[in-house]
Amino acid sequence: MKRIQVAIDGPGGAGKSTMAKALARACGLNYVDTGAMYRTVGLALLRAGIDPADGAAVAAVLPETQVGLRYEDGAQHMLLNGEDVTGLIRTPAVSAAASAASALPAVRAFLLKAQQDLAEECSVVMDGRDIGTVVLPGADLKVFLTASAEERARRRCLELEERGTPQPYEQVLAEMNERDERDTNRAASPLRPAEDAVILDSTCLSPEEVLEKLVSLVTERRQT
Ligand code: C5P
Repeated sequence: MKRIQVAIDGPGGAGKSTMAKALARACGLNYVDTGAMYRTVGLALLRAGIDPADGAAVAAVLPETQVGLRYEDGAQHMLLNGEDVTGLIRTPAVSAAASAASALPAVRAFLLKAQQDLAEECSVVMDGRDIGTVVLPGADLKVFLTASAEERARRRCLELEERGTPQPYEQVLAEMNERDERDTNRAASPLRPAEDAVILDSTCLSPEEVLEKLVSLVTERRQT
């Protein structure tokens, strides 16, 4: 079967990772979560006590920061200097540090090559903010998955609750808006749909409906 690259971009809480994982399973693709790579850098900076917006300080520690990926039973695990940090990168503090650090060109350049190499090896669905615009500009299918800010905050609240770390809705909404604003307005690889992206608004769609749409888009692109 033809090798295929699928890029899914969009704001936080739009369901990118849930949908990309489900799509990977349904279509036999490898799933790469690039947000987890930025989160791992964010964790490294928090641990080192470095302000993630301080370009010079961040650039100084990147050469000694190793971000690795490992797949266990199909699930992506993140390694920081060899340590499995998968369970430590979903906190609000790491989200904020990842968002601040990801605005730095040095951090983006640091992760870009690794992301492109992962997509070279086999068919992938990769999710992030700049996959269709920068990382895989030649992707066979680009989807910009979005939903209203209120719906995305509601979903994120449920996710945090399921993880046993509930947060008040108003706080989740405010942090999400702040992160989206920063991701959208930064100069380096801002969050925006690629010109040839399919825009998919999931506000009023069930996960099953979104998956069905994505599978049909992949099937269609595989035939062309
Ligand atoms: O997708 P996730 O919420 O895990 O991403 C964490 C942060 O990493 C985002 O807020 C964004 O700032 C950054 N990111 C990015 N480019 C990507 C993926 C994530 O800038 N391709």
